[in-house]
Amino acid sequence: MRESKYDILFEPVRIGPHIAKNRFYQVPHCNGGGYRDPSAAAAMRGIKSEGGWGVIFTEQTEMHHTSEITPFIELRLWEDKDIPGLRRMSDAMKVHGALAGIQLAYSGINGPNFYTKEVPLAPSALPIRTFTNDPVQARALDRSEIRDLRRWFVNAAKRSKIAGFDLICLYGAHGFGIFQHFLSRATNQRTDEYGGSLENRSRFAREVVADIRDAVGDTTAITMRVSLDETIGELGFSNAEVREFVEMNADLPDLWDLAHGAWEDCSGPSRFKEEGAQELLVKGIRELSSRPVVGVGRFTSPDVMARMIRQGVLDFIGCARPSIADPFLPKKIEEGRIEDIRECIGCNMCVTGDMTMSISRCTQNPTFMEEWRKGWHPERMNEKGVSQTVLVVGAGPAGLEATRALALRGYDVTLAEATTTLGGRVARERLLPGLSAWGRVVDYRQYQISQRTNVETYFDSRLTAEDVLGFGFEHVAIATGSHWRRDGVARQHVVPMPVDETMTVWTPDDVMASKHPDDLSGKTVVVYDDDHYYMGGVMAEVMAKAGAHVVLVTPSAYVSDWTRNTLEQGAIHVRLDDLGVDIRLNRGITAIRAGEVETNCSYTGRRKPVACDAVVMVASRVSEDALYHAVMDRQADWADAGIKSVKLIGDAAAPAPIAWATYAGHRYARELDTADIGDALPFRREITQLEPT
Ligand code: ADP
Ligand code: SF4
Repeated sequence: MRESKYDILFEPVRIGPHIAKNRFYQVPHCNGGGYRDPSAAAAMRGIKSEGGWGVIFTEQTEMHHTSEITPFIELRLWEDKDIPGLRRMSDAMKVHGALAGIQLAYSGINGPNFYTKEVPLAPSALPIRTFTNDPVQARALDRSEIRDLRRWFVNAAKRSKIAGFDLICLYGAHGFGIFQHFLSRATNQRTDEYGGSLENRSRFAREVVADIRDAVGDTTAITMRVSLDETIGELGFSNAEVREFVEMNADLPDLWDLAHGAWEDCSGPSRFKEEGAQELLVKGIRELSSRPVVGVGRFTSPDVMARMIRQGVLDFIGCARPSIADPFLPKKIEEGRIEDIRECIGCNMCVTGDMTMSISRCTQNPTFMEEWRKGWHPERMNEKGVSQTVLVVGAGPAGLEATRALALRGYDVTLAEATTTLGGRVARERLLPGLSAWGRVVDYRQYQISQRTNVETYFDSRLTAEDVLGFGFEHVAIATGSHWRRDGVARQHVVPMPVDETMTVWTPDDVMASKHPDDLSGKTVVVYDDDHYYMGGVMAEVMAKAGAHVVLVTPSAYVSDWTRNTLEQGAIHVRLDDLGVDIRLNRGITAIRAGEVETNCSYTGRRKPVACDAVVMVASRVSEDALYHAVMDRQADWADAGIKSVKLIGDAAAPAPIAWATYAGHRYARELDTADIGDALPFRREITQLEPT
């Protein structure tokens, strides 16, 4: 069972009228499903209850129709009709004894109201502040509208109670909630009793808490979520002002929920933020109030968690991403199974489900948001089918996850890997600057596989079709990955671009294999990024650190464009600028010649040469599917070889981020030996019930 040093994490703690059974607190987090996929979102929260969390929250819940953040898909509590969907979620949260919390959001200056077409209301009349610079402004709430808003909060609180929630979180963090808009001088420029002094700027929060306490306070705890620092300098709600605010309103909520800055600051990826990065900002706030305090910091280490409590920094360990990567984190600590924790790698792929309004994925936990859609459990697999043996070729994330999950199902698995290391692309990419935490994708699976007696791993085994047919396995999964193209084919060029043979062109694979000189001082290297995720920016960083003068050329308007979805685009731009990288946006490359590349404007096509000594080509990738096709060509020999099926998975099927590979590996393991569903939809889906016409 658990080590005594972690006992402190399992102490019960009072929050208003309720007692949390332990200190594990799943803070609100989005999932891309929200109101569109209520049962999928509810089942996901239910799994966390089973995993031992003491407190579990919903994502942001739009509490009134006059403030919504379409196109983003969160939850809604606009009328009684919304109650059953939320009730399903609170019921799921409470099955294993967690407290159920709902986060009520009035988005104010952050809600463009594209769906409801209502005029946005905020403390002051300013443009709406969203990721997309929407051409809409908010009107300043007048006094009677503030009274309306207070009533709407009470109505939402009453509905939350009927929907079964034990805790209500008033959202005033990340720039997203109206409490922050009132508290910050940047967004509250009022001259009445709600603006000016901190006392005045806190008035709205005090009034709403008092109103809700009167209405439901006997049964429902009230928490307040604020950012530790707005991170916009003097004008913003600074850490010093946050401390003053807490001191001034010490016993206002039943718990202080301390987030940080904008979402990018609070949920920065591991490339830019360490575990527990907010410790200094949070330290000491607990002493300003008698109420418990929860804080976040991508906590995955039980030792760090226990220290946070022991040293009096926090009362609750707040987790969003660590609870996504491993919903069973508390249970594993409780059962003394620390090495089984599937640690979050801080890649922020989960965030992209929200940013792209699709549904979230997790690189580490392929079952996330598939608990209801596919009936996948993060810790348990379906029963083994009729077959016994499986050969997995390639030990990248797809092959490793397939092996782990197949072994858990009870198959005898043989994993063959061409090189001498496990991990495929992750084994290489974890050595790149800032990406070491990504290695957890390999470490977790390597350990799990090492604990199974039904897995055999062979290194230095680059298999041929002959080998595969000779072994006699019933099923073969081919997860042989991909490699980066040298010819520039990606988005700007769908056929190879002209490349002079005398110019040095490195792909990311070359750079990861250190085929470039260690010292590039005095050399100019053009990094061409037509991939737009992290690799182009990382390559520029590697080249700059090797001393090169780096010119980053990309046809996009942003450096590492797609990383806007992983909340790190701004940080990448700053890092490259700090390294002296010459950033050329909205430019492609038409040709690579001797001693130069010819660039062109993405809009006008106007051309300009850039002299350079070498090019790093970050274009697209080609699947390593030769083995698969060779085995398919020998289909006539399968029966004699005892082969029943051969499947191509992961990057070898179609290159994509690592999360796609772990998903593909997991899916393969789940579906082996299951009935063919033909043309049926491979997941459950919920559609809105039609109203009578
Ligand atoms: P994915 O992301 O789909 O898991 P990776 O590129 O990360 O793909 O991993 C593919 C792995 O497959 C690499 O470790 C590579 O060495 C291995 N591999 C490629 N071809 C063969 C082969 N013919 N036999 C065995 N292993 C192979
Ligand atoms: Fe962590 Fe990445 Fe999973 Fe998000 S997607 S929970 S950041 S491992």
